[in-house]
Amino acid sequence: MDKRILIIGAGPTGLGAGYRLQELGHTNWRIVEKNDHAGGLAASFTDNQGFTWDVGGHVIFSHYKRFDRMVDQALGSDYLEHLRESWIRILDTWIPYPFQNNLRYLPKEALYQCLVGLLEAGRSFAGTPANFREWILSIFGQGVADLFMFPYNQKVWTTPLDHMAKDWIAERVSVVDFERVLRNVILEQDDVSWGPNNMFRFPLRGGTGEIFRRTAERFKDHIDYQRAVAWIDADRKQIGFQGGGVLDYDALVSTMPLDILVSQIANKPEQVAEATEKLTANKGLVVGVGFARPDPSKKCWMYFPEDKSPCYRVTYFSNYSHNNVPDITRNFSLMGEISFPQDQAVDRDAAVERTVQGYVNTGLIREEDRDRIQSVYTIDIEYSYPVPTLQRDAALNVIQPWLEGRGIYSRGRFGAWKYEVANMDHSVVQGMEVVDRILIVKAECMV
Ligand SMILES: Cc1cc2nc3c(=O)[nH]c(=O)nc-3n(C[C@H](O)[C@H](O)[C@H](O)COP(=O)(O)OP(=O)(O)OC[C@H]3O[C@@H](n4cnc5c(N)ncnc54)[C@H](O)[C@@H]3O)c2cc1C
Repeated sequence: MDKRILIIGAGPTGLGAGYRLQELGHTNWRIVEKNDHAGGLAASFTDNQGFTWDVGGHVIFSHYKRFDRMVDQALGSDYLEHLRESWIRILDTWIPYPFQNNLRYLPKEALYQCLVGLLEAGRSFAGTPANFREWILSIFGQGVADLFMFPYNQKVWTTPLDHMAKDWIAERVSVVDFERVLRNVILEQDDVSWGPNNMFRFPLRGGTGEIFRRTAERFKDHIDYQRAVAWIDADRKQIGFQGGGVLDYDALVSTMPLDILVSQIANKPEQVAEATEKLTANKGLVVGVGFARPDPSKKCWMYFPEDKSPCYRVTYFSNYSHNNVPDITRNFSLMGEISFPQDQAVDRDAAVERTVQGYVNTGLIREEDRDRIQSVYTIDIEYSYPVPTLQRDAALNVIQPWLEGRGIYSRGRFGAWKYEVANMDHSVVQGMEVVDRILIVKAECMV
């Protein structure tokens, strides 16, 4: 049967689906996108001063050959390769990431507290940790928890850590090898090579969004921009748009936030609606500041657990590509990310001022650099992090089977609502896998 496949959203997941549909030679499909551009949260924007910004610092992690193939085809040789240089700012000191492997940079008293905590962690924690907070204590001990893991994670997630599950962690958090920690301290060795993103590629120009702009170009005749889905009739298999218009489908792939998707379906069981209310997300603000001076730093991105800065992470975006600033000999750029609970009103001007003050407080700029600010660009992120709460999996186990029973496949960062598989590579491949499942009845691995 020539299935009519409709895809909501031209972000990485929707484009991954489109890429796979084109690869398979299937022709009966469309992507509908509410924005006037592709890329979703992985889009990039160039401001009127010529500075380019991502929606928060995007680094390509890759776990999948199919994702690499898509990126290769999009970028060709138009990319730069960087060695990760990530740092943590604590107690007015720069500590290379991962924190626990580079404790030797800490002032002595803090170093001692961290080592004692790590030593005691395994011994003193009885039983299996029940939540993320307990997991942190059981692995890192009190010293590292108090100095870094608690305040940093609280800033990112804006959710009490004992309301969060621990099963999502796997490779997202570097855990501890105490002998290695001790060796690094005593032999004064740096240890920065942990993790899947030790090397990363970045588009030569256009920011991360260039990957998705070019991918969307491959099948632009299949994409309708500025078409926002307003309602879904799961019984008739129809979607309707803001401003009018209806489309039929046999299978619907949705990449919009799952809670909004469910709210747009009229006839749903009470338990699906109730489960949806249990999903938690936060929102974010990106503050890009472009300066009229160059900067010699080679740092890529930095974590800020303390309240000297409102940002949990700041990226030297001019170090990702010289084309991210108008003239690399005269400019550099910093891109800060701040999280907020979804129901909190955001005062953007105050957040910008706090961000710049945070840059001064943490030594990224000097007070007089305020006069060299050439550009300020902010991006509101309505849905930023899908929070892996204790209730999440039970809720998803009610919602997703109900949707799939009606030919609706909700995938991607907020479609699947699983932070552990919510990066660009995961999202693209979820799009590809769901197409395989719909058309060639092949099981998905991720969702
Ligand atoms: C602050 C931040 C930093 C990140 N850093 C990294 C990183 O370093 N590395 C990495 O790999 N990933 C990173 N990510 C994750 C990356 O952005 C996501 O993996 C990816 O964008 C998810 O793609 P998606 O298509 O699932 O969702 P989205 O990108 O959210 O795309 C969904 C699309 O659906 C559209 N849509 C929504 N509602 C409707 C509607 N009603 N009608 C029509 N269209 C609709 C939206 O406009 C959007 O284009 C980061 C994300 C954030 C927020």
